Amino acid sequence: MNNINHIKYCKKCIIPETRPHTEIGEDGICSGCKYFDQRKNIDWDKRKSELIKVFNKYKNKGNNNYDCIIPSSGGKDSTYQALKVLEFGLRPLLITVTTDMLTPIGRKNIDNLKNKGVDYLEFSPNPVLRKKINKLALNTVGDITWTEEVAVSCAVTRFAIKMGIPLIIWGENPENENGGPEENADFFDDIIQKHDDEWFETFRTNGLKSSDILDTWKKEGVKDIDLQPYTFPDKNEIQKNGTIGIFLGHYLPWDGHKNAEFSIKNGLTTYEKWVEGNIVSYENLDNYQMRIHDYFKFLKFGYDRTTDWCCWKIRRNRITRNEAKNLVKKFGGKFPSTYLGVELSEILQEIDCSLDEFNLICDKFTNKKLFKCNNKNELIKDENQNLILNNSEFF
Ligand SMILES: [Zn+2]
Repeated sequence: MNNINHIKYCKKCIIPETRPHTEIGEDGICSGCKYFDQRKNIDWDKRKSELIKVFNKYKNKGNNNYDCIIPSSGGKDSTYQALKVLEFGLRPLLITVTTDMLTPIGRKNIDNLKNKGVDYLEFSPNPVLRKKINKLALNTVGDITWTEEVAVSCAVTRFAIKMGIPLIIWGENPENENGGPEENADFFDDIIQKHDDEWFETFRTNGLKSSDILDTWKKEGVKDIDLQPYTFPDKNEIQKNGTIGIFLGHYLPWDGHKNAEFSIKNGLTTYEKWVEGNIVSYENLDNYQMRIHDYFKFLKFGYDRTTDWCCWKIRRNRITRNEAKNLVKKFGGKFPSTYLGVELSEILQEIDCSLDEFNLICDKFTNKKLFKCNNKNELIKDENQNLILNNSEFF
């Protein structure tokens, strides 16, 4: 097996070429930086008037109380989205797909947002089945929060259809914010109608389809109806309802840090310090399992949430590239022994997984080409279980 000793990193930010869907061009610049750079040429006043046009099309229309749905975790971005939409005079229905391990801060922030004066729906897919799926997803595709991510797209779109509310307002376009194929980076509306199942599976399911789960557990009595929260609705149903999704970030300049400042002013509770494995105190506060999700990104691709935040901050001139390297060196890629102060073993108990079992799953998903191994090709770990990147000299 050839080791990867020299991963290519974007020259402007520090995203590695190993990030899925990211391209680093011949000029050494990644697609995320390229798309961000293009934002300075955007006429944001024009975009705002385009947004008003979209809103006017859906305001007070249809046979229901609501003009739109906002998928919401109660976090910094959804608080910003909801309050902005209220400013524009729309009547939104907020929908939270509650996380498997909702934290007290997460609960507080959901309640904070409710108390801004909105109708709010909390949907909790069958927790018994969800725990099982989270373990299966961890074991098969290395993603413990698969259910949360998939249900946000699938269940929310199903509610939109069932309730006859055609407009869904998402936050940022992840493929524009972080880099992705050019043809997806400019999507701003009709996200749901224009994209097909293949797109959904490529960009939203992390390699595990609900039909795979059904195949695995059919004999145990799991039916396809049980997996509806994780199955994207039929295209015909979507078209019949006229469901469209827009990215608010296409119309109003998107900045996660500013969203946080805005939301904190509006009552968002943050963690008392930087969240473990991150360099901010104000995101991913609603789910104890999030750090495991991020750690698997590190095992598979050699970077984690610390790098993501450094890249967003570099692009917005909040830190230099050298400062970012030092931050990643200090905080990035660490074994997730706690999250929000809770021990890993306690977090794993939720999905009936022991620490030994977890370590085996970690090793299974670790890309050995990226990390230092001994001469028996076994991963080298320090006393805190941390791995060592082959190219750690970069940092
Ligand atoms: Zn970049």
